[in-house]
Parts: sequence; C-alpha cells; structure tokens
Amino acid sequence: MVKYVQVCPRCRSRDIIMSNDNPLAGSMMPIERKCNECNYSGTFFPEVPEEELK
Ligand SMILES: [Zn+2]
Repeated sequence: MVKYVQVCPRCRSRDIIMSNDNPLAGSMMPIERKCNECNYSGTFFPEVPEEELK
C-alpha cells in the first residue's frame, strides 16, 4: 500500500497547517492550508506518495 501525504507545492514540505480562520468558509469554500516552511498558502496542495519524499 502506498501512503499519500500532502506537501507544499513550493518547497515540498509536509509541515502544513489548516488556515481556515473564517468559520463561514466551511462547506462552500475549499479548505485553505498554509505551509510552515515557506509561508505559502492556498487551497491546492498536491498529494504525493510518501516514499517519494525520502
Ligand atoms: Zn512550503
């Protein structure tokens, strides 16, 4: 089984946090995430096989 993890599209870090601080954004908006490494934020974070990151 291959395990997929979300990574930052800019720096490929896995240190990603949810940055949905607007409670109204809930169901209608895509969840925004933020990278702790490079401060990139956005709704698109690719999923890659965990083994590719090593
Ligand atoms: Zn990043």
